[in-house]
Amino acid sequence: MITDVVFRSLRSRSHLIPVEELLNNSTGSRMPEVVRELLTFPIASRVAGLCPTGALIASSSNSRGPALALDYGKCIGCGRCIEAGEGAFRPARRLARCGVTRQELVRTWQVGSEGAKEEEQVVSDVVRSQIFGLLGKALSIRQLDPGSCNGCEAEITALSNPYYDLERFGIQFVASPKHADMLLATGPVSRNMARAALNTYAAMPSPKLVVAVGACGSSGGIFNPNQLDQPGAVPSNEDIVGPIDSILPVDAYIPGCPPTPAMLVTGILEVLRRCGRSQRRTE
Ligand code: SF4
Ligand code: SF4
Repeated sequence: MITDVVFRSLRSRSHLIPVEELLNNSTGSRMPEVVRELLTFPIASRVAGLCPTGALIASSSNSRGPALALDYGKCIGCGRCIEAGEGAFRPARRLARCGVTRQELVRTWQVGSEGAKEEEQVVSDVVRSQIFGLLGKALSIRQLDPGSCNGCEAEITALSNPYYDLERFGIQFVASPKHADMLLATGPVSRNMARAALNTYAAMPSPKLVVAVGACGSSGGIFNPNQLDQPGAVPSNEDIVGPIDSILPVDAYIPGCPPTPAMLVTGILEVLRRCGRSQRRTE
């Protein structure tokens, strides 16, 4: 009986997602992208007023004229801009903004009478051949949750299943920070967990990397105490310290609320590609 199951399993086709389909894939994340031809300044300023986390900022006094900035580190994928944007916003299928610096999470468009034009910003796309060059270099990750809602954890857990199989890249999760090269930190930092987060970081051997995950990890998300004036924001309270970089030195950010497993894989591999083992934090 059990051998039948084993043989049937061996004969069935593998459902492991190829790396080409994972990299930069943001399908299902609800992150928006701008349709440049349809974006006008009245639409930009109206939609920015609806954004609950201040991820969209419309400015008429930009040095180069009217502009719209979209901060993926603050975006929670609520979909309001897509619903109210008259086609000027749509769900992003690809997002080359995972595993990048905080500054690179912000995109800016100049909004003219003939649509919008994105301000030049150098963001490297994840290159498949370079990613394969990383294979075989083991990386141990300690996941840290100092205050998340567990949405990000649900997606991180999926990385270990046979569908995404993060271990094929030589990457594994470890229980102890003493065995970790990378801290994958989610959620806003709650005051009760701040000390534990600092202790976890201190317990990691150098060199070490810190990656902030999700809108909460990147900016505080809906819990950011500095966004109380935004319409629709959830009232914050004194129990939240702020995003991960309010207490730890963050090397890279992965946006989303929550980021999909594909965005997490892309982000982790991009961090590895950018940093390389020799450039990790050694202090
Ligand atoms: S938080 Fe909502 S309204 Fe703001 S940019 Fe993201 S999807 Fe659009
Ligand atoms: S980013 Fe979204 S899913 Fe992740 S912890 Fe914050 S609220 Fe939860």
